[in-house]
Amino acid sequence: MSFKLLGLSEPLLKAISKKGYETPSPIQAKAIPPVLEGKDVLASAQTGTGKTAGFTLPLLHLLSENPKEKYRPIRALILTPTRELAAQVYANVKEYSEFLNLRSAVIFGGVNQKPQVATIKQGIDVLVATPGRLLDLESQGALSLKRVEIFVLDEADRMLDMGFLRDIERVMKLMPDKRQNLMFSATFSKDIKKLAYTILNNPVQVEATPENTAVEVIQQKVHRVAKGKKTGLIIKLISEGNWKQVLVFSRTKHGANKLTKNMISAGITAAAIHGNKSQGARTKALAGFKNGSVRVLVATDIAARGLDIPLLPHVINYELPNISEDYVHRIGRTGRAGASGEAISLVSADETSYLRSIEKLINMKIDVEIIEGFEPDPNASTEPIKQGQNRNQGRGRSSNSKSNSRNSGSYNKSANRNKSSNRRRSDNRN
Ligand code: AMP
Repeated sequence: MSFKLLGLSEPLLKAISKKGYETPSPIQAKAIPPVLEGKDVLASAQTGTGKTAGFTLPLLHLLSENPKEKYRPIRALILTPTRELAAQVYANVKEYSEFLNLRSAVIFGGVNQKPQVATIKQGIDVLVATPGRLLDLESQGALSLKRVEIFVLDEADRMLDMGFLRDIERVMKLMPDKRQNLMFSATFSKDIKKLAYTILNNPVQVEATPENTAVEVIQQKVHRVAKGKKTGLIIKLISEGNWKQVLVFSRTKHGANKLTKNMISAGITAAAIHGNKSQGARTKALAGFKNGSVRVLVATDIAARGLDIPLLPHVINYELPNISEDYVHRIGRTGRAGASGEAISLVSADETSYLRSIEKLINMKIDVEIIEGFEPDPNASTEPIKQGQNRNQGRGRSSNSKSNSRNSGSYNKSANRNKSSNRRRSDNRN
């Protein structure tokens, strides 16, 4: 299979070859043809599968085929849940449209709106946006969605997780009824299916499991450790391993800040990235991490979603996620593009049930290693600690233990991929 066979135009093929892509990824091979035919598409794909090109390439093809107007109305809208993802998708749109006469822009909150408004005023064909800033600028009359022909909802599951359902509904009302809709989601809960039903018309369904699914390519390891010794252990692993680029996942924003501080005190350059950080701080942290001046990036799940960090050698779960699918997303950050990677999880007694659910989901047992001096606490309770609860009070019953046992089925069984319709992450907007 080649990109040419998919029917993409020469200027797009030129941009693809400039990017160095040789063959379409599975999601691209499956999604591009129906999009080119003008059909609505419901795609199951997560970051790392090449999904962005899967919708961007055919979208640009369709727009460039139609005659251009002098005054450029917004003809394609790509909605993403996070600022980082919006910036990343926009960067892709720019690259793929380099040899086309199409203009694009990105808008998101946390930064001055003036330059965004000025760009839109000049006339653009493609707008990449997060919901809040989009609705804000629309209500100010700075943009109109009345001429949108193609609507892309990216990472729909995260949108719902982050509480954007009402915003999505409002955005839909601002666009014409007759349009092409593309919806991408990594998981398919009841709520996602309901949303798909309201947005899409007779959609073609396509699915791609990530090329580097956790299970085969990534070396996974668990260090059982006492909760209070996790920081010491992570510092030891990074220092003694002389690791240069490590993505660390923390379950909470507060935890991410604290860990970052402790790393810096131990002489390891580190930065935190989460929802409470300003856009400037987030961009700076990510840039530092990519150029090597920051060794450790500590992130929460939602903030990390969509970050494109190529060839990441190490991912550490400082805490296991309480939603098992997030484990797969997290470790999918390593071993990308065929490179091998290592994913390490520091697991204390209270995370035992999380570990079991994850192992059930990925359908394998993860090797356990105990490091001398960082042994688990034999007296600690295995009951999950509720978020925000004082650690010392964590020995009673917790509601988390119940919800966690709902996970079932292997990651590869798509029908079972997400039984999380009723689950809510405990740290909802991180
Ligand atoms: P995405 O899932 O869209 O975030 O893409 C993940 C990564 O794969 C990005 O770094 C893309 O540049 C890269 N990528 C996308 N399509 C291809 C392809 N056909 N061949 C090689 N790399 C690709």
